Amino acid sequence: MAILAINGGEKALRKDYTSLFHWPIVTDEDIAAVVDVLKAGSMSGSEISKVFEKEYAAWNGTKYALSTANGTAGLSAAFWACGIGAGDEVIAPTMTYWASCAAVIRLGAAINFADIDEELNIDPDDIEHRIGPRTKAIIVVNYGAQPAEWGKIRAIADRYGLKIIEDNSHAQGALYKGRMCGTFGDIACASLMSGKSLAIGEGGMITTDNRELYERCVAYGFYERTGVASNYNKADAQITDPYLQKFRGLPIGGVKYRINQTCSAMGRVQLKHYPERMAEIDKAMNYYCDLIEDIPGVKPIRPARGSGTTKGGWYAAKGLFSEEFAARVSPAKFVAALNAEGLFSWIGANPALHLHPLFHEMDFFNQGKPTVIAFGQRDVRQGKGALPQVESILPRVFNIPWFKHFDKEAIEEYAAAFHKVAENIDEIK
Ligand SMILES: *Cc1c(COP(=O)(O)O)cnc(C)c1O
Repeated sequence: MAILAINGGEKALRKDYTSLFHWPIVTDEDIAAVVDVLKAGSMSGSEISKVFEKEYAAWNGTKYALSTANGTAGLSAAFWACGIGAGDEVIAPTMTYWASCAAVIRLGAAINFADIDEELNIDPDDIEHRIGPRTKAIIVVNYGAQPAEWGKIRAIADRYGLKIIEDNSHAQGALYKGRMCGTFGDIACASLMSGKSLAIGEGGMITTDNRELYERCVAYGFYERTGVASNYNKADAQITDPYLQKFRGLPIGGVKYRINQTCSAMGRVQLKHYPERMAEIDKAMNYYCDLIEDIPGVKPIRPARGSGTTKGGWYAAKGLFSEEFAARVSPAKFVAALNAEGLFSWIGANPALHLHPLFHEMDFFNQGKPTVIAFGQRDVRQGKGALPQVESILPRVFNIPWFKHFDKEAIEEYAAAFHKVAENIDEIK
C-alpha cells in the first residue's frame, strides 16, 4: 500500500506542471495589438471596442453587444436597464460572486436569495414561491461554467412576466442544449477579467437581442455613445428612444463604464483563438473527470456527454463529495492530502450571500434603516438555516485543477494522485 505524502510518503506528482495551467495564453499577436493601441494613443477611444463588440455578438449569437470596463459595471447597467428600482425585489442565487447581485441595493431594491442545487446553480424549484408583487427580475448565473436549468427558469420568468439577467461571467462559450450561454437572459453580462475563461485584462460584455435594454445600458453609463461629440468620439448616436435622447451627452447613471481599448484589442485576439483553446480545455477536463469519476462519492460537476450542454472554458471547475464520503473523511483533510501529493485543490466556492450583513443591515441611503426594507418592500431577509442546500453542499465542494492543455500523461498522473489518496482514506487522520 502506498504511503500518503501527508504521512511522509513520496509525493505522487513531482514534475513541474505549471505550464499546463497558465492562463490566459498571450502571444506576440496580443502584444502587437495592445502596442498598436498604445502607439496610437487611443486607449480611451471606442472604435476598436466597437469592432470587438461586433465580433463578440456574432460569435455569441446576439443582436447587440456592449463592452464595459468590467463585469460588475455591466451588471450594474443591466439592473437599471431592466427597470429594477426602489422597493422592488429580485431573486438571485445565494452562492455566487457578489457582483451578480450587489448593485441592486444601490437601486433601492432587495434580494430574495434562492438556494442552489447540486450543480451549484440556482435551484429552479426554489424560485417560484419567492415571487411577490414587487418582484422584477431573476438573476441567473451559469456558475462554475455549468449552464443553469434554462428550460425551467425561462418558463417561470415568462409565466410571471419577469426579466432574467444572466450572469455569464463563468461560462463564455458554454452551450445549453446546443445554444450558447449569454443568450438566455433578456440581457446577459460577462466578466472578461484576467481570471476568467475568456480573459482580456479588465473588461466585460453585455449581450442582448432587446434594443430597448441595449439603449438603456448605453444611456446609463456611456455618455460618449449618446450622440454628442467629444475629443474621444464622433457623434454616433446609438440611442433612438426619445425619452433617453433627452439626456444626450450625460450618462443617466452618473457613471462611466467605457472599457480601455488595450483590453478590447487583446479581446479581439483572444476571441479569435478562444474556440480552439476552449476545445482543448474541454477535452483535457473531461478526460480528467472521466478518470476520477469512478471513485465512489466523488462527482465532478459537468454536463452529461452528448446532451449538447457543455462548459465552454471550464472556469472554476468543481466537484462534489457525497454526504457518505464526507462522513467518512473530512473533505478539508482529504484535499490537504491531495495538496501534499502535489495536486492543488481546496474546499468551497463563493460564500453564501444570504447571510452577509450587507444584505441585512446596510443603510446605503442613510435613512436610518436597512436599504433592503427601506422602500416598502417585504422583508425577505433570511438567516442561518433558511437555505439548507447551500449549507450542506458548500463544505463538500472541491476544486478541480484547470488544465488548459491536453497532456494525456500529465492528466493521468493527476488522476493517479487523486486515486492514491482516495484508496488510502483510512490513512488520513
Ligand atoms: C468575476 C465575476 C463578476 C464580476 O466581474 P468583474 O469583471 O470582476 O467586475 C460577476 N459575476 C461573477 C459570477 C463573477 O465571477
